[in-house]
Amino acid sequence: MSDAPAGRGGPEQRRGPEQRDGMEQTLTTRALAEINACVDLAALEEARVRWLGRRGALTEQLRSIGSLPPSERPAAGARINLISERVQHAIEARRADLERTAVARALAEGTVDVTLPGRGEATGGLHPLTQARLRIERIFRNAGFEVAEGPEIEDDFHNFQALNIPADHPARTMMDTFYLKDGCLLRTHTSPVQIRAMQSRAPPLALIAPGRVYRRDSDVTHSPMFHQVEGLFVDENVSFAHLKAALHRFMEAFFEQTLSMRLRPSYFPFTEPSAEVDISCVLCHGRGCRVCKHTGWLEVAGCGMVHPRVFEACGIDAERYTGWAFGAGIDRLAMLRYRVSDLRLFFENDLRFLAGFAGGAP
Ligand SMILES: [Zn+2]
Repeated sequence: MSDAPAGRGGPEQRRGPEQRDGMEQTLTTRALAEINACVDLAALEEARVRWLGRRGALTEQLRSIGSLPPSERPAAGARINLISERVQHAIEARRADLERTAVARALAEGTVDVTLPGRGEATGGLHPLTQARLRIERIFRNAGFEVAEGPEIEDDFHNFQALNIPADHPARTMMDTFYLKDGCLLRTHTSPVQIRAMQSRAPPLALIAPGRVYRRDSDVTHSPMFHQVEGLFVDENVSFAHLKAALHRFMEAFFEQTLSMRLRPSYFPFTEPSAEVDISCVLCHGRGCRVCKHTGWLEVAGCGMVHPRVFEACGIDAERYTGWAFGAGIDRLAMLRYRVSDLRLFFENDLRFLAGFAGGAP
């Protein structure tokens, strides 16, 4: 069985089965060591090609069997195949290991360590409209006024009837008011708050009521939701002169500058007499500019003496008490104070715009 044909060349011919056995052991050990030393999948693939590829070391061994004596070939082939299988298994095992490690690493890198300090944190700020509202509240609180609130969904009585707005008044048309199915409505002004205050308490009353109001209106200077502040002062012997002085002081405090103020006769159902309030332009100081349309004046509020019928609706003795009221747009005041030319910027919540007001004090 061990007779090799004489005269055949090749290195195998000079080796006996024991030598081949030792060499195969060495090959196996080397192959397994190399595979286990691979640190990534690319290196593992290279090792696979080196050992099992078409020109791989084990493939060469398989080929060289042809040079063995026929009697030795089956046993040698079986041994080489066994080694190839071991190497193949080792590669699969190593591949699974490396893939597990890669997944574990990806998971570890994706982990959020909540104990680390934050990056890029910036201090937020109050919205410019909130700053304006707080500023108005502070000025009036300093003058002894209280800040009152009321519901944004109102009934017809508080929003219209009690304010001497009869059923056929243009302000009640669907063009202006958002009506709800149950007959209620979104308040069109903050004036209902003064009605609620006068219904619940006896004079003297000194309050402001800032808040959201709603009208069906939308363009560069109008938004369907906007902010108003209502002022109300009721006591004995309250006169129009008090009103003018209070408003003038407020405007100068709000804009932090000396201003001229003028009142123009006007009409509101809930005040008599009524007036529009103009101040000298806070941007050009009365010289004339684009914002004041070159008039030097800015219309900033409406005001008047509380109409006796409003007192009557609230159960207040109009013979004994007089009072004044005013209403102003907080958005308009904020636009002028912060030099904002488009009302819609206040409601778009663009952080680039809002960041300019962060840290501002009301
Ligand atoms: Zn101007």
